[in-house]
Amino acid sequence: RAKEQGGARFRRFTQAMNDDVTRRLAIEKSIRKGLENDEFVVFYQPRVDITTGQVTGMEALVRWARPDGTLVPPLEFIPVAEDTGLVVALGERVLRDACIQTRRWTDELGPLRIAVNISARQFQPDLLDRVQAALAESGLPPSQLELEITETTMMRDLPTSVAILERLAEQGISIAIDDFGTGHSSLYYLKNFPIDTIKIDRSFVRDVPGDEGDATIVSTIVTMGRNLSLNVVAEGVETDDQLDFLRAHGCREVQGYYYSKPLPADGFADWMRAALSAGTAGSASSRK
Ligand code: C2E
Ligand code: MG
Ligand code: MG
Ligand code: MG
Repeated sequence: RAKEQGGARFRRFTQAMNDDVTRRLAIEKSIRKGLENDEFVVFYQPRVDITTGQVTGMEALVRWARPDGTLVPPLEFIPVAEDTGLVVALGERVLRDACIQTRRWTDELGPLRIAVNISARQFQPDLLDRVQAALAESGLPPSQLELEITETTMMRDLPTSVAILERLAEQGISIAIDDFGTGHSSLYYLKNFPIDTIKIDRSFVRDVPGDEGDATIVSTIVTMGRNLSLNVVAEGVETDDQLDFLRAHGCREVQGYYYSKPLPADGFADWMRAALSAGTAGSASSRK
């Protein structure tokens, strides 16, 4: 009897697994097709220096514009793209488009710095060639490019990571640690690797100033980053209270819905023009 139940449970289990495999294969196939048909579009979210009110740059965030009109967020396809290796081709596309767009914007909107997310699969020695190709094709100076890498990606193979980071740094490209605080936050690499920026994960920013633990974590990261001469960016800033807290604790840069959601290229350019003519980035609420 127990065996029978176990058997049924196992069949359900393998069925679920097959469904998952089938689902993933279907997603893989449509990502491939999406790449062929150019369905992936880059959105841009501004990063603001809260001490000056100036926009320092933006993050490139990919979206999948399906033929049926839906806009799929990255968390629904990046993991599959990562598992299948398709993220390499996808990431190359994002990097290239983002560099071309940023170069195009430079004359009108200023020398903005574009931050591009790099997945674990992309963070290999051949990344250097791909980055160089994107810079050469776009004409974007390396000083206007930042690559965002998570702690987890970086810690997978330390010697290789250091070698890649050093070569990127030699080219004048900046490195940001993304989702800081959610992985192995090691003081060792902060001190010894050529890192320019740490981005405090949104999960810590969300409940400040109310949550005492998060408030302590955020202010500690800000202080540490400043003492190590790193740019510190708070992710996911949505409210005046969060902004006041960050300002009071010396955090210089923020990114979040408070200023703007990620926008398609045209929308971002319009948003930037409005910010430039106002002389400051303002906030979503103050521009209502
Ligand atoms: P991330 O790099 O940490 O990007 C920040 C995410 O937080 C973005 O989600 C952004 O839209 C969201 N966000 C920013 N401000 C706020 C806010 O105030 N409130 C809230 N609720 N959310 C905010 P998104 O665009 O859905 O991207 C999710 C993740 O997908 C990214 O996290 C990144 O890990 C990955 N991703 C996005 N684009 C790419 C890409 O081109 N390549 C790779 N490899 N990964 C990407
Ligand atoms: Mg990022
Ligand atoms: Mg992040
Ligand atoms: Mg994140």
